[in-house]
Amino acid sequence: MRRFIILDRDGTLIVEKNYLSDLAEVELAPGAAEALQQFRDLGFGVTVITNQSGVGRGYFDLDAVDRVHERIRELLGGSAQIIEGFYVCPHAPTEHCACRKPKTGLIDRASRELGFDATRSYVIGDKAADVELAHNAGAKGILVTTGYGAQALEAGAVQPDYVASGLTGAAAWIATQS
Ligand SMILES: [Mg+2]
Repeated sequence: MRRFIILDRDGTLIVEKNYLSDLAEVELAPGAAEALQQFRDLGFGVTVITNQSGVGRGYFDLDAVDRVHERIRELLGGSAQIIEGFYVCPHAPTEHCACRKPKTGLIDRASRELGFDATRSYVIGDKAADVELAHNAGAKGILVTTGYGAQALEAGAVQPDYVASGLTGAAAWIATQS
């Protein structure tokens, strides 16, 4: 069974922008391409799981989300090949779906489709929901202090297995784990 890095998108892989749909606003987080290469070198697959409630709220549609993901791939260049798919929850919180993080709907689907063992994988994100997703799926959860991460830490309602200042810091810690 493969092991995976499950990346959050906004505030983790790319710079947090409120309800992002404008392609001109898409900006990679510092070290994003380098971290992806490190994950691959460590033998991990990589996928992205993202809550995009802007769809459910009617701010933009799924095509706009896909265009953002194409733009992310463009900015990452060759490193984009490492990302095996973007899994999107398009629902608003009021829809009570089974896929909005911290619920495990999307990680369950990704692990089936991509063939990985979630309990030997890592979720990296900037919100409590990302760390809770990790723990709900039996994975390790890393909080990055980019995006909303510093706020989440300060609020104290998050119990990450590790706190990193960004993706390359997360990769360095993962490299030390067996
Ligand atoms: Mg985020």
